[in-house]
Amino acid sequence: MKPAIFRYHAPKTLDEAVAVLAEVAPDDGRVLAGGQSLVPMMKLRIASPRYLIDVNRIDGLSGLRREGDRLVIGALCRHADILASPLVREQLPIMADAARQTADVQVRNRGTVAGSLAHADPAGDWPAALMALDTVVHIAGRGGSRTVPLADFIVDAYTTQLGPGEMITEISVDIPAHPSAGAYLKFEKRAGDFAVASVGVQLTQAESFRFRKVAISLGAVGAKPIRVRAAETLLHGKVLASSVNLLEAAEESVRAAAEPFADTRGSVEYKRHLVGVLFRRSISMALDRV
Ligand SMILES: Cc1cc2nc3c(=O)[nH]c(=O)nc-3n(C[C@H](O)[C@H](O)[C@H](O)COP(=O)(O)OP(=O)(O)OC[C@H]3O[C@@H](n4cnc5c(N)ncnc54)[C@H](O)[C@@H]3O)c2cc1C
Repeated sequence: MKPAIFRYHAPKTLDEAVAVLAEVAPDDGRVLAGGQSLVPMMKLRIASPRYLIDVNRIDGLSGLRREGDRLVIGALCRHADILASPLVREQLPIMADAARQTADVQVRNRGTVAGSLAHADPAGDWPAALMALDTVVHIAGRGGSRTVPLADFIVDAYTTQLGPGEMITEISVDIPAHPSAGAYLKFEKRAGDFAVASVGVQLTQAESFRFRKVAISLGAVGAKPIRVRAAETLLHGKVLASSVNLLEAAEESVRAAAEPFADTRGSVEYKRHLVGVLFRRSISMALDRV
């Protein structure tokens, strides 16, 4: 199918982009980044925006950079840029895992992290993986800019806090203090497909192999990503490698926190079982990496 007719804008500056977005009716304008979710939706006529604001020509939105103890991801940072970053591979391997498991090479070369968060697909890899980190979304609009923690940014399936005329300019993530590591694993029916279920784990070790920071996130088993606070509390301050009972209790808590729905990818029971298995594998990977 072909998309419905639309007007195309290609602003060269952020101010221009925000001005165009503010001028069009709230539901009529859409930002175009990598186009890997928006263009298929337009072709299927699930989305028919009257104005496309292509932000790909705006300087300063590309790539990623370190600012003190935070990693700043520009709105045009592609999945492939994340994979290519030595900083990410060394200090935030959970993000390299998410990039590697997202789609295929072609999609990774075009699609952006910001586009994935703005799209807020319940089975998306970036919302789930970044939920295990201290992630903040930076937003610009005509009224100025604001920052929103990722946990508040995604409010429901395919729904975010972005207001009319607003766009994401960048995303920032705390670079965890050493010794820290994480892992993100998903289960997919075919290579390059969306997740049936996914789990992210991020750990920071204190003295005597105890963990002073534990974060666990789930994807594709709810309308939006889930942080499993009960399991995090259970594991906080404990020696994780030595306690089978402790990990069993945490796995039980992870399964209980999942809110899966039955669809073509699997039943509720199957997905609940999967998050338990993925949790055990991802925490074991994270422990090895720490
Ligand atoms: C074959 C295929 C397989 C895929 N597999 C996976 C997968 O395994 N896992 C996964 O997570 N994703 C997958 N995707 C989706 C892919 O990761 C997309 O790249 C991503 O979801 C959207 O990023 P984008 O830059 O392409 O956004 P676009 O398609 O350009 O935009 C998506 C939405 O976000 C909005 N948007 C984009 N940028 C901004 C911004 N800066 N500010 C405000 N709003 C913005 C757009 O207006 C639109 O509503 C797949 C896509 C395809 C085509």
